Amino acid sequence: MSEDLSSSAQEDLTNPAFPVPENLAGQIAITSLDRIYNWSRRSSVWPMMFGLACCAIEMICTAASRYDFSRFGMEVMRPSPRQADLMIVSGTVTKKMIPQIVRLYNQMPEPKYVLSMGACSSGGGPFKEGYNVVSGVDKFVPVDVYVTGCPPTPQALLHGLIKLQEKIDKQSVLSADWYKPGAEAPIPVPLLGPDLVDPRDFPDFGAKLKAQQERAAAAAAAVAE
Ligand code: SF4
Repeated sequence: MSEDLSSSAQEDLTNPAFPVPENLAGQIAITSLDRIYNWSRRSSVWPMMFGLACCAIEMICTAASRYDFSRFGMEVMRPSPRQADLMIVSGTVTKKMIPQIVRLYNQMPEPKYVLSMGACSSGGGPFKEGYNVVSGVDKFVPVDVYVTGCPPTPQALLHGLIKLQEKIDKQSVLSADWYKPGAEAPIPVPLLGPDLVDPRDFPDFGAKLKAQQERAAAAAAAVAE
C-alpha cells in the first residue's frame, strides 16, 4: 500500500482484525478485497448528466461551488450512460419520458445505482393524479435511495449520496447482484401509445399486437374487395 495514503484513508481501509505492527504504521494497510473495492467505488461514483424538472436545479446547485459534491469524488457527471454508474432521477417523470429513462438505465454498466430525488420522482408528487405522470420511477427501474422534498435541498441530496455510499460499503463481491447470472437482463422499455404500456405486464403483448394488426389489415383488404 502506498505511503501516500492519508491517515483517514488508512483508517477507512485498515481491517482492525489485522493490526499493523507499530514500526510499519503509516506505510502499509492490511485490508480485505471488499473493503478496498468498495472504498474505490464509493469514492468515484459518476452520476449521469440529465435532469427532468425543478429538482434538477437543486441537483445543479449541489454540484456547484457552495455544496460541491466533487468532495465525494462525484463531480464527473457523464453525458453518456455507458460511462455513468449513478442515475439521479431529478424531477417529474412523465409517461413520455419513462421509455427514455429505462433505455438509458439499460445502457449503464453494472454495478449501477438509482437515486430518486424529490416527491415527483418517488411518487408523482403534486402531479400524482396527472394523466401524463408516472407515479414513481421505481415502478420501472430499481431505486436504491429516495430523497424526500419538493424540491429536496442540496443538503438533502448530499445526505442521500452519503446513504448511497453507506450502501456500497456494505456490498460484497461474493454476493453482489451484478455477478449473478441474468443480472444484465435489460428491463423491457415501456411503450407509449394512447397510454403507457409496460411490456412486463403483458409478456405476449408484442404477439397480440401483431395479430391484431394483421386482423385489421385483413378486414381492410376484405372491405376493399
Ligand atoms: S418534487 Fe417539486 S421541485 Fe421536484 S420536480 Fe416535482 S414539483 Fe418540481
